[in-house]
Amino acid sequence: MFARSRHGSRNGDNGTRGSMFASYQSCFSCKARYRANERVFRCERCKGSLLLVYDRLPQRKAVRSKAFALTRPHHWKYWMFYPVRRERAITMEEGGTPLLQSKTHNLWFKYEGENPTGSFKDRGSTVEITHAKELGVSRVLCASTGNMGASVAAYASRAHMQAEIWLPKGTPPVKTRQIKAYGGRVVRYGRTYNETLEKTFELAKRAYLAGDYAYRLEGQKSVAFEIADQLKWRVPDYVVVPVGMGTLAFATYKAFAELEALGLTSRMPRLVAVQAAGCAPVVQAFEKNSHMIIQVNNPRTIASAINCGYPNYGHEVLRALRKTKGLAVAVTDKEIIAAQRALGKEGIFAEPGGAASYAGFLKAGLKGSVVCVVTGSGLKDPFAGAKRRSK
Ligand SMILES: [Zn+2]
Repeated sequence: MFARSRHGSRNGDNGTRGSMFASYQSCFSCKARYRANERVFRCERCKGSLLLVYDRLPQRKAVRSKAFALTRPHHWKYWMFYPVRRERAITMEEGGTPLLQSKTHNLWFKYEGENPTGSFKDRGSTVEITHAKELGVSRVLCASTGNMGASVAAYASRAHMQAEIWLPKGTPPVKTRQIKAYGGRVVRYGRTYNETLEKTFELAKRAYLAGDYAYRLEGQKSVAFEIADQLKWRVPDYVVVPVGMGTLAFATYKAFAELEALGLTSRMPRLVAVQAAGCAPVVQAFEKNSHMIIQVNNPRTIASAINCGYPNYGHEVLRALRKTKGLAVAVTDKEIIAAQRALGKEGIFAEPGGAASYAGFLKAGLKGSVVCVVTGSGLKDPFAGAKRRSK
């Protein structure tokens, strides 16, 4: 922790500051502090999630520069909000994805299928793998429902690292193939994603544990930075996000809060968290006005990308929903498939997990300006929801 590691180099980082403007990591639950680039994936005291805290003065100076104003929206434009050095970035020019206006509603789609590996995960991976590289890591380990694994495998290869990706039963074959194509080693373990994830905790000592932790969360913020930038810093009334582990939803909240704190924007959007009805622990807690997230032991949905029975960032998402007067919506597989078809009419082929946000929008009947984050390409799981013609 902070006091212990400040003078030491037990992470083998030679005492260099890995971060640009990041000051320290703070535990969401017990507020324990850790050094900004310390190799911890959750609080050693209480197992809570860790959040990067920044020095706002240099951040403010950087976003007021002419260079910032003149740069087109893309992931690394917002380097001042990340805890790694941009000159060392392991990047595939992720981000800069289109914000497409709907033909039929006062709504925009942030289409994340345009990222290098076909999902929003690349934004987290570029920051996370850059951090791993800064620490001198040669092996990364990751539990995934498929998209994160593919993304981590690709970025690890770019960084000359070995990636071992642990997948639960039912991972779509295209995602497995994609991981192998990038040179990742696939290990199948567990009936559910949370079983797979628990197993990787035991192995965290032998490799860098990539996943829904502080550094990935920081990278995921760029979805929100780009939305605000593409709308000329006018914040929409609602941002609708599919929730599996909750990383993207909470990153979206953290990003908008950071923009507001620097004066780039003047308000917060209302956050809308969408889960599949067969796996909706956040929605259940929200509806009961409870702070307790109860694990779903038999999560079931066609939307494999958000089939996570116990979200790492569940408590954080609940807080974000309450702070922004947001809402949580559960959608059935049938509603997800209908939304997937409707998105097709807008020219977007989304995987079921990605179409969940639009399904949530349609179900909640939101009024005002809305952005739906469509998190992944339909090519990731092309036959999910398709009618079977033959066996
Ligand atoms: Zn803690």
